[in-house]
Amino acid sequence: MLIVQKYGGTSVGDLKRIEEVAKRVIKTKKECAKLVVVVSAMSGVTNELIDYAHHFSKQPNAKDMDMLLSSGERIASALLSIALNEQGYKALSFSGRKAGILTDSVFTKARIEKIDTRALQEALNNDYIVVVAGFQGVNEKGEVTTLGRGGSDLSAVALAGALRADLCEIYTDVDGVYTTDPRIEPKARKLDRISYEEMLELASLGAKVLQNRSVELAKKLDVKLITRSSFNNNEGTIITKEEGMEQALVSGIAMDKNQARVTLRQIEDKPGIAAEIFSALAARNINVDMIIQNVGVDGATNLGFTVPENDLDLAKETMQNILGAKSLIETDKEVVKVSVVGVGMKSHSGVASAAFQCLANEGINIQMISTSEIKISMIVQEKYGELALRALHKVYKLDEK
Ligand code: ADP
Ligand code: ASP
Ligand code: MG
Repeated sequence: MLIVQKYGGTSVGDLKRIEEVAKRVIKTKKECAKLVVVVSAMSGVTNELIDYAHHFSKQPNAKDMDMLLSSGERIASALLSIALNEQGYKALSFSGRKAGILTDSVFTKARIEKIDTRALQEALNNDYIVVVAGFQGVNEKGEVTTLGRGGSDLSAVALAGALRADLCEIYTDVDGVYTTDPRIEPKARKLDRISYEEMLELASLGAKVLQNRSVELAKKLDVKLITRSSFNNNEGTIITKEEGMEQALVSGIAMDKNQARVTLRQIEDKPGIAAEIFSALAARNINVDMIIQNVGVDGATNLGFTVPENDLDLAKETMQNILGAKSLIETDKEVVKVSVVGVGMKSHSGVASAAFQCLANEGINIQMISTSEIKISMIVQEKYGELALRALHKVYKLDEK
């Protein structure tokens, strides 16, 4: 039996916590032959390192950022390995490079291309507990890369897939996946199971309990995934295939605060303009999310879209370069995206209108709407985000069993 366990930032938040994690790791090692442990940086460290960089530069070089940020996970993995060895267990810490994690060269949000598991396999065969620094890899030139915020989840799933692990456990600071963020709505309910599809939507829409790309990869590689707390022994949430599951109409509400709105006014209404705008953004690796365009009047039209808040300056600069002086570019960082997710929506009507009515009852204005088969997303003013989330949670009776 081979298990991959991942411990998030709060789980290894201080030296006492690392000691607690070491105890859990030892307990698992006694029960299973091979154990790989992936760790995040101690909580707050990644943000602190980002702040350090911003002390010197508004837009630090991405390669330097990855050298800097990857260090947080290296510290935590080395400390855990030291703690395990001290307890009399054979453990070895691995950087992303030593673990054979090869990525592309998109610094600060690299994709894993391949894992060369030879060094890991050798250590596992020699009965070592393998402790891997999450969130990082190296590109073909050997330069250090990181995998985007929350990327240690992805490291864990990718390793579980490459090593054909029997189970991948993601340990965090809540008991599992809830109907919404339990820190915002205390009445949120823990889900025993959730489908990969719904989890992927929730994660992509801001439920940071799992990084979205890790869920996507788990689905693709058929990794058995569980999230649970490292602070107790409660059963967690299993993320699994949809089949055989009761289809909830709405399974969760998510909120993404890392959103900024861009509105372009008076842009020329002609073939190719959208292609030009969005190709330019794609060329700079900016993920555009919601897009709204209406029918033009007198040869001009308006176009609105959202981008991650930290890409806003770059997006604005890109737009200024291609649109020139005639168009007006408006931006707003004080917005959030609130989303309702559920596979049952596919076959039911009225879910969207209930959401709109719910926000209307609270007097919350909806600035943008987008829908897919299994989600409805709305952009609202940031100060109303939590209120919207709680109101929607109640409207769909998610607090009731
Ligand atoms: P870690 O450091 O362990 O990776 P994160 O902070 O990245 O932990 O993710 C866990 C947090 O996700 C929780 O503390 C919780 O506030 C938040 N969260 C948001 N949405 C949900 C949800 N639907 N279910 C559970 N937790 C959620
Ligand atoms: N430490 C990184 C972050 O804060 C990666 C992670 O925690 O998964 O985003
Ligand atoms: Mg996380």
